[in-house]
Amino acid sequence: MRRLIGLICLALVMTTSAARAEGRVNVVASFSILADMVRNVGGNRVEVAALVGPDGDAHVYAPTPADAKKIADARLLVVNGFGFEGWMPRLLQASGSKAPVTVATRGITARQVGGHEDPHAWQSAVNAKIYVGNIRDALIAVAPGDAAVFRANAEAYLAKLDALDREVREAVAKIPEARRKVISTHGAFGYFADAYGIKFIAPLGVSTDSEPSARDIAEIITQIRVAKIPAVFLENISDPRLIERIAAETGAKVGGSLYSDSLTGEKGDAPTYIDMVRHNIKALTSALAD
Ligand code: ZN
Repeated sequence: MRRLIGLICLALVMTTSAARAEGRVNVVASFSILADMVRNVGGNRVEVAALVGPDGDAHVYAPTPADAKKIADARLLVVNGFGFEGWMPRLLQASGSKAPVTVATRGITARQVGGHEDPHAWQSAVNAKIYVGNIRDALIAVAPGDAAVFRANAEAYLAKLDALDREVREAVAKIPEARRKVISTHGAFGYFADAYGIKFIAPLGVSTDSEPSARDIAEIITQIRVAKIPAVFLENISDPRLIERIAAETGAKVGGSLYSDSLTGEKGDAPTYIDMVRHNIKALTSALAD
C-alpha cells in the first residue's frame, strides 16, 4: 500500500512538472553562448537547448539526427548568422521544422575578413546587447503572453552587459597604450579589438590548425621583437619548451587561454557569456600589465 501511494505521488509529481514544462517555450540555440543569452532573457519561461554545447566548435560541427529532432520540437530557433553555422540550412530542412529562425546578429554590421563576414560579433559586449534585443523580440513574438517577463529579464540582463562593457573599457584603460597588443592564433577577436582597442596580431606564417614548427617559433620571436609585443596567446602550441623559448628570448609574457567561440561547462572558467568576457579581460590585462 505504502509503495502504491509512493507511486501515485511520483506520478503526480511527474504530471505537474511535465505540465509546467509544457507551458515553457522550447528554444534551440545553435551554440552555447547564444543558449546562455536565451536563458537570461527567457528565465523560467523557456526550455533552452544548444546544438553545439560547451567546449564545442560550431565552425566544424557535424549535426546528428538528435539535433534534427530537437529542432523539429522547437518553437524558436536562434542562430548567430554571418556564415557561422554553415551546417544549419541542411539541418533545418532535414528537421522539417516550421519554427521561426531568429538571426541574433540582425542589425550588426559584419566585419569583413578576407572576403567573408567575421561571425564572432558577440566578442563585443555592445554587440551582445543587440543579440539580446533580438532574442527578446523573438521570444515575445512566439509567446506574447510572457512578454512582460521577457522584457523585465532582458532589461536586467542588458544592465549587466552595460556594466560588463564598462568593466572591459576600464580594464583596457589601465594598460599603457603602447602595450595594448598581443600575438594570438585566435582569429575570433576582431570585434573585441575594434570595440576595446587591443590589437590581436596573427603570428607570421603559422596556421591556426597545426602545431608551429621550431622554425615558425623563430619567426614569431623575430616578430615579437620587431613589433615590441608584450604578450602572446598561442594555444595550439602544446610543447612547453617552445613556449619557454619564446618567453626566454623575447621577455614577452605567455598568456593563458582565451575563450572565443564556446563557453565551458559549469565547473570551467567561462560557464556564462559574462564569465567568458571577464575571464578573457583578466587574462589579457594580467599579460599586458606593466
Ligand atoms: Zn570562431
